[in-house]
Amino acid sequence: MKIGPIAIPGAGERATGTFTFSGDEGLAKYEWPYIAIAGLQAGPIVLITAGIHAAEYTGIEAAIRLGRTISPDAVRGTILILPLLNRPGFYERSIYVNPEDGDNLNRLFPGKPDGTWGERFAHHLLAEIITKCDYSIDLHAGDLIEDLEPFVIYRETGTPALDERIRGMADAYGARWAVKGMPTSERPGSLFAVAALNGVASMIAESGGRGLLIEEDVARHVTGVTNVLRTIGLLSGRPERVEPPTVVKSFEWLRSPVEGIFHSHVRVAQLVKPRDLLGDMTDLVGEPLAAVTAPVGGVVLFIVTSPAIKKNGLLLAIGEL
Ligand SMILES: [Zn+2]
Repeated sequence: MKIGPIAIPGAGERATGTFTFSGDEGLAKYEWPYIAIAGLQAGPIVLITAGIHAAEYTGIEAAIRLGRTISPDAVRGTILILPLLNRPGFYERSIYVNPEDGDNLNRLFPGKPDGTWGERFAHHLLAEIITKCDYSIDLHAGDLIEDLEPFVIYRETGTPALDERIRGMADAYGARWAVKGMPTSERPGSLFAVAALNGVASMIAESGGRGLLIEEDVARHVTGVTNVLRTIGLLSGRPERVEPPTVVKSFEWLRSPVEGIFHSHVRVAQLVKPRDLLGDMTDLVGEPLAAVTAPVGGVVLFIVTSPAIKKNGLLLAIGEL
């Protein structure tokens, strides 16, 4: 069996290697790593991806660890793991974007066959790999300059049977918080959202950040994905019963009205009330420029840890409660 350019091994085997998208010179400069696990028994195909943001290391590390430790004997179906989607950005330590074109790869789906590097990558990945799978789990963290409270993200499609499968996955990961996108979602073009619109049961999980490979953050992803795989029947073993996450009412991203130095007054996971002072901006000699206040009450889900902020630069996000 092949999934796009990737040869899946025979039943009961694991294969590792690299693949590329031949026929596109710009993409074919790179080799992407993969780990494929073919279960002894036939069943659905699960795609586990990470590193679409190249410096979100806990997701990358967890994807590799799952690929090396899940036994094919315990699998009913196929697990395809792509641990590093933003291959151009990894050794460049790119934050948010892909150095080939400066775009955020997780905003470009479904992509275009004749577009920019990122649009062509998104097109090939979606058409040749993602849509061949039944489930998709995309692992993230706070980026190199972000601290983060763990959460999951999923999107409703309006198709009840699919939405039920998606909700089941998100509930099984074991996060305390969930962000739910609507069928007409803000921030379109994400891998998970476009996969869901193409009938693939999809979610994002976020754990860790700041470029740190903290074991607890990696282990949270490994445990969470393992529980999702057990819940959907792809991996043997009884799923652990975990509390479903609290779904926040909205996901508010705060941006700075000015360029300057950001001083945060809050921490991730902190609960804030509407109009609370969350931080302030000063210029390069310390003159106050702006106060950052909470537009809604809720939980702080991520904070930019770098104080160097451009005008309209991202500062932090609140999950509204
Ligand atoms: Zn990310």
